[in-house]
Order: sequence, then structure tokens, then C-alpha cells
Amino acid sequence: MKKAVVIGAGPAGLTAGIRLSEGGWDVTVLEQQAGPGGNLRSWTRQGHTIDNCLHWLNGTRDGTRLNRLWRSLGVLGDGVGLVRQPFFYRSYLSGETLTMWRDPERAESELSEKSPRDARAVRRFFRDAKALAYGSPFARAAVVARWFPVSVGDFADSLSDPDLATFFSDYLGREYASLGLLFAYSAFLSGDADLPVGGSPGVAERLAGKLVSSGGKLICSPAIPTLPFPVCFRRNWRLRRLPGSTAIPARRISPRFTPRSRSPIRSRPGRRGRR
Ligand SMILES: Cc1cc2nc3c(=O)[nH]c(=O)nc-3n(C[C@H](O)[C@H](O)[C@H](O)COP(=O)(O)OP(=O)(O)OC[C@H]3O[C@@H](n4cnc5c(N)ncnc54)[C@H](O)[C@@H]3O)c2cc1C
Repeated sequence: MKKAVVIGAGPAGLTAGIRLSEGGWDVTVLEQQAGPGGNLRSWTRQGHTIDNCLHWLNGTRDGTRLNRLWRSLGVLGDGVGLVRQPFFYRSYLSGETLTMWRDPERAESELSEKSPRDARAVRRFFRDAKALAYGSPFARAAVVARWFPVSVGDFADSLSDPDLATFFSDYLGREYASLGLLFAYSAFLSGDADLPVGGSPGVAERLAGKLVSSGGKLICSPAIPTLPFPVCFRRNWRLRRLPGSTAIPARRISPRFTPRSRSPIRSRPGRRGRR
């Protein structure tokens, strides 16, 4: 039986582990933290669970490709309820509450009322969010072309009311693309970004459970205090041994990181290290 080690038990590592295991591999997922989940981990203090990750999960609408993936991984499906939240986010500014309601007409009217001088820009934002959520592919492509060069900061700067400017850049920072905000809100509008009951810890638990039930192994710290971390340079990679780390011989390593702009891995996706 072929063997694989996956480093990191975040959603990506657990998913890779599940798929490898289902494909007949003897797979072990190693996690440096005390439990699985990566960013989906949460904390319990004085009876309260602090979950700062999942505000919504993309792929909650039936029939989408992502929904099928979540179902096949046991993250969504029968017995997993979904919470449909009334608003996407809300900010408390200068003693007032500004809300990105699920109802776009209500959100548009409240925000325009707050600053009538910005009503046109606000209308444009909600018109295009609705086009992304319910429009034809042609309408969606037009929205992408319109907003592609506009950062959240650019949009905020086009507003005259300072609170409104802060509100629109409160969810994603000023350096993000406005399309990020529009896509996230439009997924929320179309019912494709609801919250699974149990939040982040629930999703992490179900992924880890699926890994184990499909035959994979999960080892979390302190069993693994430190691991050698694969370091990728522009043209090649090599392993850096950390003091006190455990060496795991491998014939081949396939680094997979969350793509970031200017990432050397992203720019040379075909390259893989060998050992
Ligand atoms: C504040 C916040 C809010 C978010 N909200 C949402 C949301 O509402 N909806 C949504 O869909 N997404 C949300 N996300 C994004 C989501 O959490 C990430 O996209 C997702 O967790 C990425 O998964 P991953 O497995 O790639 O990485 P991670 O979750 O970061 O997991 C990587 C894992 O690898 C482990 N690891 C790294 N190096 C080593 C090593 N050398 N040895 C052993 N283990 C190692 C880490 O400890 C970690 O457990 C949010 C993220 C944050 C930070």
C-alpha cells in the first residue's frame, strides 16, 4: 500500500488526507497544534465558545459543485442544519449601527438615508451585488469588468460620508479588491454562504471524523512537537531541519500552500521537489 504524510490538519490537509485514504493510500495527517482544524479551531472560556473563523461557508446552496464536495466530505448533508443569518455584517460607528442586511433593498435604503450624497454609489454597489447573485453570465461578466480595477479603499474614498467609507472597508480591508466584497455578499444573497450549525469546530470535527472513518490517521501535537517545514525558493525547495524536529524520510514532497500574490509556488505550479 502506498504511504503518504500530509502536513497540517487544516481543511485543506484533512481534505487531502480523506481523498488519499479513499484512494487506497495509507495516509497520516500530522498537525503541530493540539487538535485538527487549522483556522477552524476555537476556544472555550467560562462556558463560551470563541469561534472567530466561520462567519459563513461558501457552498451551502444545494446543487453547486462546492456543495457536492462538502457533502462528500461529510461537512454538509443530512443532519447538519444551516443558519441563515439576517445580515452579512454590521458596524457600530459614531453611535450608529450600519448593517449590510441580507435584504439588499433594506440595506441600500438605510445606507442611502444615512448619506443621501452617496446614494448613487451605494445604489451601484447593491445593483451589482444583485447582478452577481442572480444575473446572467453576461451581467456577471460586466460587473467583474466594472469593478476589477477598484480596491475596497478606492470605493471607500469615492464616498463623502466618513462613516459610510469606514463601513464599506470594515469587512475586508482597504487593500482588498472590491470584487472580493461583492462576491462574498452576493454568495450570501443567493443562499450559498450560510452558516452550518456547530460553526468552525463542527466543521473541523466532521472533517477529522471523516478522515479517521475512511482509514486515515491523524496525529496532533504534543505527539509531534516540531516538524521540518518545507521551504520553497524561486526555483527549488529544500527542507530546513528545526532544532528538536522529527525527520520523516520522503521520496517526494508536493508543497501546497494557500496561493498568495507573488508566491513563487503559484508562479511555477508544475515544479515539484524530489528527494
Ligand atoms: C479570522 C478568519 C475568519 C475566516 N472566516 C471565514 C469564513 O467565514 N468563511 C470561510 O469560508 N473561510 C473563512 N476563513 C478562511 C478559512 O479559515 C481558511 O481558508 C482555511 O482555514 C484554510 O485552510 P488551510 O487548510 O489551507 O489552512 P489552515 O486552516 O491555516 O491550516 C493549516 C494547518 O497546518 C498546520 N501546520 C502548518 N505548518 C505545519 C507544520 N510544519 N507541521 C505541522 N502542522 C503544520 C497549522 O497548524 C494548521 O493547523 C477565515 C479565516 C480567518 C483567519
